[in-house]
Amino acid sequence: MIESIKKLFGLDYENQLKKERDKYLSSLPKPSSKIVICSHNYNPQVYNCDVIVESSDLLDWLEYHFSRCSISLNADVFLSWLPTANLNDKEPTYLDKNLLSVIEGYEDRLMETGKAKIICGLCRNIFDSINQYRENAKDEGNWHSGTIVWKCPDGHKIYHNDYRFHALKRES
Ligand SMILES: [Zn+2]
Repeated sequence: MIESIKKLFGLDYENQLKKERDKYLSSLPKPSSKIVICSHNYNPQVYNCDVIVESSDLLDWLEYHFSRCSISLNADVFLSWLPTANLNDKEPTYLDKNLLSVIEGYEDRLMETGKAKIICGLCRNIFDSINQYRENAKDEGNWHSGTIVWKCPDGHKIYHNDYRFHALKRES
């Protein structure tokens, strides 16, 4: 009785979510041992490089990260998908939009672990780290704007992202 009432009012939300999650997970191809976290293919206006991490290192980072904050459906799928990686396969795996959204904004934290490989789109050399710059930084009242630029050690610009945000000043 209770079960049918739950279904009637759409309260079977958890079960629905699980079905959705399983369906999405089974639709994904198996990952290889290497995952592409940034790429010209993902956003040509921003990236002129590919950044690749080992699937096991990415899994470690995600597990650590989501042990401290709430998990979305996409993140849940990501955490279930990575352990299925074929470690003998060295062909880098690209992420779809949903999985990419899970690590969006954390790319440089993943790079800070020193375990990422950065392939410059210009010299095609592979690096362990890049140089980050802030260009045209402006502070107008509470508005902050500028451009974040990454360069490979040979000076090639491989990332370019304009930002503009409003920060509330704390009364002190
Ligand atoms: Zn370069």
